[in-house]
Amino acid sequence: MTHPGATPSDKHKVVIIGSGFGGLNAAQKLKRADVDIKLIAKTTHHLFQPLLYQVATGIISEGEIAPPTRVILRNQENCQVLLGEVTNIDLASKTVDSILLGHTYRTPYDTLIVAAGAGQSYFGNDQFAEWAPGMKTIDDALELRGRILGAFEQAERSSDPVRRDKLLTFVVVGAGPTGVEMAGQIAELADHTLRGAFRHIDSTRARVILLDAAPAVLPPMGEKLGKKAQDRLEKLGVEIQLNAMVTDVDRNGITVKRPDGSIDRIEAATKVWSAGVSASPLGKIIADQSEAEIDRAGRVKVGPDLSVPGHPNVFVVGDMALVDGVPGMAQGAIQGAKYVANLVKSELKGADPATRQPFSYFDKGSMATVSRFSAVAKIGKVEFAGFFAWLAWLFLHLVYLVGFKTKIATMLSWTTTFLGRGRSQLTITEQQAYARTRIEQLEEIAATVDEEKAAS
Ligand SMILES: Cc1cc2nc3c(=O)[nH]c(=O)nc-3n(C[C@H](O)[C@H](O)[C@H](O)COP(=O)(O)OP(=O)(O)OC[C@H]3O[C@@H](n4cnc5c(N)ncnc54)[C@H](O)[C@@H]3O)c2cc1C
Repeated sequence: MTHPGATPSDKHKVVIIGSGFGGLNAAQKLKRADVDIKLIAKTTHHLFQPLLYQVATGIISEGEIAPPTRVILRNQENCQVLLGEVTNIDLASKTVDSILLGHTYRTPYDTLIVAAGAGQSYFGNDQFAEWAPGMKTIDDALELRGRILGAFEQAERSSDPVRRDKLLTFVVVGAGPTGVEMAGQIAELADHTLRGAFRHIDSTRARVILLDAAPAVLPPMGEKLGKKAQDRLEKLGVEIQLNAMVTDVDRNGITVKRPDGSIDRIEAATKVWSAGVSASPLGKIIADQSEAEIDRAGRVKVGPDLSVPGHPNVFVVGDMALVDGVPGMAQGAIQGAKYVANLVKSELKGADPATRQPFSYFDKGSMATVSRFSAVAKIGKVEFAGFFAWLAWLFLHLVYLVGFKTKIATMLSWTTTFLGRGRSQLTITEQQAYARTRIEQLEEIAATVDEEKAAS
């Protein structure tokens, strides 16, 4: 099926997969190019993932970090935004297949830019996802908000002290930036925002545990900053458990193996998984048809020009690409996307692909917030922590949020939360809390019906 409403064009066809940092920046950088762009993504929004934890903990609304892609690109006439999940890329016929509600659409390309990002990895234990959602999408963040606030609600109604303790125990797996931010914010929510709001339970007695199989907090930021983040979290009452390998996750808790081989059980109703990433399966589809290799995380090893070996018109950028010295961070995707867009533009003007300069990444540093008024930052060799790091973090995140209104709304939400103790997004709905379980139940029912049909 072709795209209804699309005007046939003999212009150079650029297909971009994904509307995250890579996809959106590639499209925007091609704004003045004489090309016909189709941007295909499986969500209708561009997602600012670094602030997902604030949606999950009720500080900001999902709209503030997920503006509709077609509205962002409304004035870019050379670009059509298409909703659909890409299921296949055919490098030989230069086409991309995407599915929307059971319909498959085929889109031809001259240049393909793949920026489909990464999902959560459970290191081969996908069954953990049911009880420990990750933090990759708006759905994840809203579900976690439902689970976190729902646990306090259930604890208020519980007369069984053991069950109450389980409901008031929150385990965050993975002590990278997302885990640190989540643990810090759950602790502040319990201590600060919800203090005094219940009659039967004391929210400040909630137990927040941050655990990791690694021996340090925030390993990529170095020992000094990791220690500072750990000290600050401990001051907030977060329990840090390092060298702790999760071996099982179920409805009621988590099983952990310690370095001495002993096995521990933590009873906890709410678990958050922020421990690993796995690149989009589109990477494997590309690797199977080319000489490209993929690593254990499914990232495609691209050439110095970010193209797939043997396919100079197919580029992989962002979290899906494996490039030495380029981290899986927003800047890696943004800079890679802009570099590729510039290549496309210059080659349309006649530049020879054989003379491409390699992509070079400019490291602008990295940051993580720990709690209000406290962050850690590493810019080049300069490392700093505390209030000024936090101010720098606020400022940079505002700069990179898309849209003026969004920036104002976010600033207002931050003022309410950080200067007072209120959070403006504490609403939860039944759908947020139970959607994943319900969808899985529906899928099971559908599978049983299919099996019964096949058997009859
Ligand atoms: C919770 C969290 C916090 C983070 N914090 C920071 C931070 O503080 N600083 C920082 O620099 N980085 C941070 N990152 C990392 C950063 O967000 C990523 O590196 C960046 O988003 C990568 O950009 P991308 O374009 O490669 O992928 P993404 O931004 O993930 O975009 C992928 C896009 O592809 C689409 N897609 C995926 N599969 C398909 C398909 N089959 N068909 C169609 N569309 C598809 C998705 O819908 C999405 O639009 C964080 C990430 C997470 C999850």
